[in-house]
Amino acid sequence: MAGIAIGVDLGGTNARAAAVDRATGAIRAVRKERLADRSPEAVVEVVARTVREVASAVGAEPRGLGTVGIGVAGQCLGSTGVVLNAPNLGWRDVALGSLLERALSQKVRVANDLSVAAWGEMRFGAARGFSDVLLVFVGSGVGGAVILGGRLHEGARGVGGEVGHVKVRPSRPETKPRRCGCGAVGCLEAYTSGVNIAARVREELAAGAATRVREIVQGDAGRASAAAVEEAFGRGDAYAIALWEEVADLLGTAVANATTLLNPARVILGGGMLLGCAQLLRLVRQRFDAQVSASAAMGLSFERAHLGDDAGVIGAALLDG
Ligand SMILES: [Zn+2]
Repeated sequence: MAGIAIGVDLGGTNARAAAVDRATGAIRAVRKERLADRSPEAVVEVVARTVREVASAVGAEPRGLGTVGIGVAGQCLGSTGVVLNAPNLGWRDVALGSLLERALSQKVRVANDLSVAAWGEMRFGAARGFSDVLLVFVGSGVGGAVILGGRLHEGARGVGGEVGHVKVRPSRPETKPRRCGCGAVGCLEAYTSGVNIAARVREELAAGAATRVREIVQGDAGRASAAAVEEAFGRGDAYAIALWEEVADLLGTAVANATTLLNPARVILGGGMLLGCAQLLRLVRQRFDAQVSASAAMGLSFERAHLGDDAGVIGAALLDG
């Protein structure tokens, strides 16, 4: 089974393992299991089980398939397999790589979920054929990854590319400083991710904000979401327009600054929240164009992520070859 590799996408809710064709990126078998218990021991057990199941679905032993790659929603020390911080799992300093190697009797490579998604896009998606790529995903969180010279650039400790945690300052003085899931105040993610936008709109509805978002969510602030803001924006709502202009300014400027610094040939934007909000995406592109250096913008191409939810398992499977 030399042509097959196994990759795992470990989120806060599910573990998903796939057997991936090394030559084509096609997924030959996939298993997804809900994480009922997020303790490291229980999660390792679930991951090991899903890996064994996909291996047996393609008629192989896991150890016949080379290194198992695993992408984790959190900060990882790629070289040691330690997960420094995975807020969705409630983990700090978990030696995932060695725990999983023991459970599988198999070599394991741990990386950040966005890094593996970038690698999946590089091998079989929107970054194919490019050796310098910046990838930014805006979904429930904000994540990024960098490919330089055809290699995943994870930095000295494996925590590079974390565009969600660069510090930003909104231009409107009435916007209050917001705390990020990482614990710091003022991260890009705290102002621009789907979860954080929903929380902010909920608070502002409760404080009496005048906006058509209120009628879109039928008076139920608990249903506030980025999609509701996008809809209100389409109806010409002043609150939604001001909010989207602020979010687009922060995202567009951060992506432009990263582009000016790194000079990628391609920028890939992904994530359900950003790709699901066409008006916001248009504004982000406008702010990007206004802020990126002219020299870094020359010859630069933009693309949406192609592989969707499969990028993680494909990239993880192919991390080591
Ligand atoms: Zn943060």
